[in-house]
This record gives sequence, C-alpha cells and structure tokens, in this order.
Amino acid sequence: MKNFTTETLQQAITDKLMIHFGKAPEDATEAEIVRACARVMRDRIAIRGVETRTKTRKQGDKQVHYLSLEFLMGRSLMKNAYNLGSLKMLNEALTNMGFTPADVFEAEPDAALGNGGLGRLAACYIDSMTTLEIPATGYSICYDLGIFKQKIVDGQQVELPDSWKDVGEAWLLPRPEDTKWVRFGGTVRDQWDNGYLHIVHEGGQVVRAVPCDMEIAGYDTDHVNTLRLWDAQPTKQVDMSMYSRGEYMKATEEEAMAEVIAKVLYPEDNHYEGKSLRLKQQYFFVSATVQHIVQKHVEAGRPLTNFHEYNVIQINDTHPALVVPELMRIFIDEAGLDWEQAWDITTQAVAYTNHTVLAEALERWPQDLFQTLLPRIWQIVQEISNRWQAKVDNHFHNHSITADMAIVWNGEIRMANLCIAGGMAVNGVSGLHSEILRKDVFKNACNMEPHKFKNVTNGIDHRRWLSEINPEMDSLICELTGSNRYLSHADDMMKLDAFADDKTVLAKLAEIKHANKVRFAKHAKKTRGVILNPDSIFDVQVKRLHEYKRQLLNVVHIISLYQKLQDDPNAITVPHTFLFGAKAAPGYQVAKRIIHLINSLSDEIDHNPACKGKLQVVFLENYRVSLAEQLIPASEVSQQISTAGKEASGTGNMKFMMNGALTVGTLDGANVEMHGLLGDENMFLFGLHAHEVEQLIRDGYDPQRIYQENATLHRALDALRNGFRDGVRYDDLYQRLVYGNHGSCADEYLLLADFADYAKAEARMSATYADPTAWNKMSLHNIARSGLFSADRSIADYAETIWHTNYRK
Ligand SMILES: *Cc1c(COP(=O)(O)O)cnc(C)c1O
Repeated sequence: MKNFTTETLQQAITDKLMIHFGKAPEDATEAEIVRACARVMRDRIAIRGVETRTKTRKQGDKQVHYLSLEFLMGRSLMKNAYNLGSLKMLNEALTNMGFTPADVFEAEPDAALGNGGLGRLAACYIDSMTTLEIPATGYSICYDLGIFKQKIVDGQQVELPDSWKDVGEAWLLPRPEDTKWVRFGGTVRDQWDNGYLHIVHEGGQVVRAVPCDMEIAGYDTDHVNTLRLWDAQPTKQVDMSMYSRGEYMKATEEEAMAEVIAKVLYPEDNHYEGKSLRLKQQYFFVSATVQHIVQKHVEAGRPLTNFHEYNVIQINDTHPALVVPELMRIFIDEAGLDWEQAWDITTQAVAYTNHTVLAEALERWPQDLFQTLLPRIWQIVQEISNRWQAKVDNHFHNHSITADMAIVWNGEIRMANLCIAGGMAVNGVSGLHSEILRKDVFKNACNMEPHKFKNVTNGIDHRRWLSEINPEMDSLICELTGSNRYLSHADDMMKLDAFADDKTVLAKLAEIKHANKVRFAKHAKKTRGVILNPDSIFDVQVKRLHEYKRQLLNVVHIISLYQKLQDDPNAITVPHTFLFGAKAAPGYQVAKRIIHLINSLSDEIDHNPACKGKLQVVFLENYRVSLAEQLIPASEVSQQISTAGKEASGTGNMKFMMNGALTVGTLDGANVEMHGLLGDENMFLFGLHAHEVEQLIRDGYDPQRIYQENATLHRALDALRNGFRDGVRYDDLYQRLVYGNHGSCADEYLLLADFADYAKAEARMSATYADPTAWNKMSLHNIARSGLFSADRSIADYAETIWHTNYRK
C-alpha cells in the first residue's frame, strides 16, 4: 500500500475531524486532533491487518499468542506514524493545520494498562514480533482505568483514577462478532448420554467477553498484528420484570458485577494479591482467549491433535496460568478428547516466562476461593496435580521434593508449579535470573525436566526507546554507521565503537546530551515548575518504588553528601542533580514513606543556601512511559542498584544505556550481561554479588555492627530519626534498617552492607564526570554495545529456542 504524503494525510485528518466531531481544524482542540489522527492511522493499519491475516491463513503459519494481564503501551500516535514511515508527513500536516506537533503528541494520554517492567516488556515485544513479521496476537483486559495517576500533595503520594479511554479508544476496533462467554461459580455434574459421559457446568454467573482490538503496525513492514483487549459486559439485559416485583437492586446487580471485572488494573508490582476479583480477571481473559484460539484452529479445518504445531501460547508470568486447565477443559469437555491426548497437546503448546524470585510475588490461590469461583477448573487442576505428584514421587521418592514441587498443597494452588508441569518451556529473563531458577527456585523441577529450562534475556523496542525519543542521536548513529540499517539490525550500532578516539564525535555526543538536558529542564519547568540546572550531573533513578530496588540506599547516600557539604562548602565540585520518579502500590506503606522522605529531603536541600548550584533532589510526579521518554535521553547516570539476585532483569537499565547514560549498578539482572559487554571500565559497578548475598544471610547478617562502625553511614541514618525542616521524622525507616520492624528482619535488602562500596562508586562516577573526554568515550561505548538489548534480539531468541517459528532476519 502506498505511503501517505503530507497532502493526503492532512486531507484524511481534516475529513475525520469533520465527520467525527463536526469541526474544522481551526476549531478543533488538541484532544480532538489526536483522536482524528488516531482514527486515520487506525484505518490504515486495519487494512494491512486484513491483508496480513489472509496471508497467514493461506500460508498456514504457526501463530504466537502472547498472554499478559498487562500491556503498558504508552502513547501510540508518534509510534504508529514512525512505524508507517509517516512521521515527517504527520509533523508537516499538523503544522500546516496550525498546530504545534509536540503539543499534539503531548495531548495523547498514555495507555497505561500495566504497572512497570513486566507490562512494558509485553508492549515492546508486540512491536518486535510485528516488525519481525511473526504472526502474533497479544491478549489482555480492556481496563477502564489503567495504573493510577500519581499526585504529590504535601510530599506524599495521592492516587487519582486514570480514565485513558476518552481519547485512547480512538485506537480501538470493537469486535462484537467475536464475543465469548465465561462462566463463574455454579455447579458441575456428570451426565450420561448414549453411553457417553458429559460434564455439565451450569448456574452461577455468565459474563460476556467482548474484544476491542488495537492493531499494531511494525517498522518497515506491511505486517500487522493485533492486541486483543477483552471488555467485560453482562450477559443479560437488565431483567425489567424484577423491577415490577420490587427487586430493584437485584435487577442491576448482575450487570454491575460483570462490568467490575474490567474496571481497574491491580496496581501491585511484583506482589501477589489473593483477591477474588483478581482471580476473576485472570480466568475471564484466559477463558475468552483460549476459546478464541481453539475456535480459530478448528475453523481452519485442522484437527485438534496438531493444535501445538500451529499455535504456541506464551504466558507472561503466572498471571495467565489458567490457560493450562482451560485448554484441558475445552479439549476434554467440549471436543471430547481423552485426558492423555489433551495433556499431550497442552504441554506442547504452552510456554511460561518467570519474572521474579521474590517469595511475596509467587501466586498461590486459596483452594476454597478457587473451588467456589471455578468449580470445573478446580476438578481439572486436582487431576493435573495428582498425576504430577505421582510422577514426581516416582522420579525422586523423596517427600520434601514432592512437597516442594506439588501443585495443590496445604490448601493452596501454586501457579508456578502448575506452569512448569503444564508447559514445554520455562524461561527466566536474564542470564543470572535463569541460573537462579535452575539452581535454586525450581532446582527439583529442573533436575527432573532439564530440557524445559531456558533463558531469554529481556530487551526493549530500540526504535521507540532510542530513535523516536532521541532524534539527534538517531541522526548521529545513522551518520556514523553509514545508514539507518541499525533500526532493524541493532547490532549495527557496534560500529560506533570505532569512533571512541574521535574528538569531533565525542563533542557531538556531549552536545546532543546537553541539548536534551536543556529540553527536559524546560519541560520540567513548564509542567512542574521546578528549575533544573542543565550544567549539573543528571543522576536518575526511575522505576517502581520497591524496597528491593533500594531507592532508600540512594537517598541515604544523598543525605551523606548533604552532610559533607555542610561541613565543607567545597566538598562538591561537580554540581549534582538527583532525579527520582516512582509510583508506590497504594497499600505499600513503606514505599509511600520513602516517597515522602525523598520529598522531605528535596525540600530540605532546596532551603539550604550551601547547596545552591551544587546539590539538588527532585521527585518527578507520575512516572510513566511518556515521562520516561522525555527524561531518559537527558539522563547521564542510571541508578540500577537492586540487591543482587532480586531484580530478574530490569529493562530501565537498557533504555538508559542505549541513550548514553552510564550505569551505577550492582551485578544483578541484565546488569550482568551489560557488564559482560562493557567491562569494569565502562560502568560503575559496586556491591555484593548474588552468591555473596546468599552467603551473608546464611552466616547471619548484622546491620547494627555496620551502623556502629561506619561513621558516615551512622550520621546519615541518624538524620532519618531526627527528621527535616518540614518537621517530618523517619524513625520508622531508621528502625527498619538498623533493628527491623513490623515483623521484618533488620535491613532485609542489605543497604548497609553495600553502602560504603556504593559511596565509592558514586565518587568514581563524579570524578570521571569531571573528565569530559573520558566520560563521553564511555558513553559512546555504552550506546555502541547496547544492540544486544533490542527486543528484536529477544524475540528472535524466543522464535528460535521456544516457539520454533520463522521470522524476518
Ligand atoms: C521501562 C519501564 C519500567 C521498568 O523499569 P525498571 O527500572 O526495569 O524497573 C517501569 N516503568 C516504566 C514507565 C518504564 O518505561
């Protein structure tokens, strides 16, 4: 299909504006313009979608189904224009119509149907699967409300609802013809029919699953994939006869119950919530999806026995684990296969990605809740569990191993074990993480079925996270590598390494970074009223607020710098701006206290004249994809300081590296691969290694001793107790680090153990910053070697090692 020209695009947008909003361009608001542009792009992509599906059907290609309760898509307008090769035309068309393109892009709300890394990964992967021309569909829930909007009021987080759909639905294509029905509760009984035994599941509540599709355009391809978002609607119209019988409330009850399923995304990141509504969300989207996939397979005229040859179902963490029993249910109850046949197909079609080793994040559903809500699925899970347990027993003859690998155990259903039993592959998301799965978390399962355990290191959409958000850098890379080939072959960036001693190139790199800092400073002033100094180090930690990510370590170190500056006004020679951004789960009190602390410290430093022009701390509210896109090209230091062994991969680390920021980090997650590429000389590594963390905890960790022995640390921690000029004290956080509180052991994440080495790494970093040539050279190496972290590489790995699908090379 022909590309847009500026003229045809402008005409199409103008037509949409008139038809949909009855407005001429000069009367349209920015939100209306965004919706009109989205509709124009959506139409164009939808046409290619039809062509893609026809081709896939004809060729009989294997399909990938990527199931995730989260897709953190962010904005789509610039992305789609970029991938369609129409970004330049869109900019011109908007300008011709009297708009400022940047303001139009800024008016699009983020589609924030995710919490953080896991959801953003799904979004990057759907882009790469499309660009690599793999026939793939993403599946999730069409939440009314995405992750909450964060406001900071008096230094504290306040959560506001995020109604993204007003504008965002312009991207969605409702598909009522693909509606599915999902049953909750009710009763199950056997029924004999002509000598056949049937399972009859009846009663309870039936919810309608109506798909809303977001079509996804790839880069430099006509291939289109779909992100299918299921909306929940009541099955029955409100029963008016109930009104006449006086049952007003009951009449609308069922309707309200159905709609609540797709109402809101659960805002806990890396944390299991055993809520009934969450389980309903999981089964709702899994059942609708599996029904759809099986139906399409059957409609293509194929027998179910080769289902796994045409379909692979990749599940993003255990949240969609119910695909395993749901496939079994459909194969047995609806298609009449016997157990062995059904199990054989299921276990060759499903693959599971693990995302965390944190115990509090592992899903374990209470049996009674599960049984009441999903009576038929419960029967199937019991059978899977019994057979798996027999197999394990038979293999090991060891009771404690049986207990460890059991699926149903002590009144709980352990979803990770269900995924291991019911799938063909289990992968971790970085080398270290996959090693920990194999050697520790799932060591028994790996012993029995080693062939299932794989690694696929995470990646990011480098077109969005580099080319699109950092256009000057994009131009420089194209110039130095001789073409824009790196956009589809990220390894091409390696050619930049050859310019490490080229003074002009290094100067150009520094100039781009500085311009990005100035731009971000302007943006911060306009949107938040904070004044940033573009001639200071932009030292950034943005990610969800979690104790294991150790924002508190960063804060305690800043307090120590602040105290040093009070003793000696010349202690800081390079001006330093520390930027934070993070949402805390609404019920995570400690995380909320840390946000409050950052804001108290920020205020304290702002009011101290000795800090002026030397030290500043800024908390950026409402950290989200679109804020990351503005901030990361302007960042110089990337803080990736989780306790070793706790961060499965991280993807924020990759975004910073690609944009030339230098990492201060521990050997955790994908930082390990990063270190393999860069060596000690191109990043600022510190802290205990994962095996040392284990060792220290085994030997008995004593944070009080470190507190007593390290005077700098002692003094910084005491500042928490004493509080700041706003009158707020943080004795609770002090207690948590030194003595333990609220049932937690002291300093669970070993901040004190790593503090001294962290301070040294920060000092090395500041000293290096004072030598621009050395710094810029390191920055260049970081960009050059970041190609490994393209999601295109990750998706190629999945295609080769797990999915066995073809892809564009
Ligand atoms: C990339 C990204 C994350 C993940 O960051 P980590 O540092 O890997 O935890 C979280 N939130 C947003 C908005 C992101 O873009």
